[in-house]
Amino acid sequence: MINIAIDGHVGSGKSTLARGLAQKLGFHVLDTGAIYRGFACAFRDRRSQNIDEQMIENFVKDIKVDIFFEGDLQHVVINGKDYTKHLREEEISVLSSKISPFPVLREKVRLIQRDFADKYNCVMEGRDIGSVVLPNADIKFFVTASEEVRAKRRFEQNKDKSLTFNEILKDLRERDYRDEHRKVAPLKPADDAIILDNSNMTLEQSIDFCLKCMAKKGLKI
Ligand code: C5P
Repeated sequence: MINIAIDGHVGSGKSTLARGLAQKLGFHVLDTGAIYRGFACAFRDRRSQNIDEQMIENFVKDIKVDIFFEGDLQHVVINGKDYTKHLREEEISVLSSKISPFPVLREKVRLIQRDFADKYNCVMEGRDIGSVVLPNADIKFFVTASEEVRAKRRFEQNKDKSLTFNEILKDLRERDYRDEHRKVAPLKPADDAIILDNSNMTLEQSIDFCLKCMAKKGLKI
């Protein structure tokens, strides 16, 4: 199987890039953040007041995760409940970044990701795909953009404008900090990742950049 790893910062456009690239190549795409978000939704249903290791261990123990696709839409089903329509809620964005540092939870997600990569030619996007989940991926990209550009993109996605630009910027900085400073699988480019700063690039230009890098590496699809 051919596996393409795309990691990067919040709001860097890595999901859109992964989808666009997968479409061009006829590959599957796995949004791994959506799996963490699904876990966060199921965790929220427990209405726990605080988060600690023991609590996460108990939570993860009997969890069953199903991923399926309806056209482009990736569904995340946990213990029979489809959480797909709640995944992008702002509360879930924050909660997913709070529960994602726990190793026991990351290990569970890692196994789901590995299984997917073994079955399909895929573009997998997340935070630790190139560094931890698929260290032998055929090619790795690390996508980033300036904080302001990323916050602007998030602001435009936040359709009901319930958050101001500055609130989104603050949230984004906090999430970057948590992702980059956690002990397990912190967000950082794999040694052999190709860095793509798309602050001043369109989606088409980013896809083109990735395809050219693949061709340069002799990856024939
Ligand atoms: O990419 P997205 O914003 O949907 O991810 C939600 C959260 O899940 C991130 O803030 C991050 O903490 C976590 N995550 C992760 N590893 C991944 C994908 C996401 O830790 N591979």
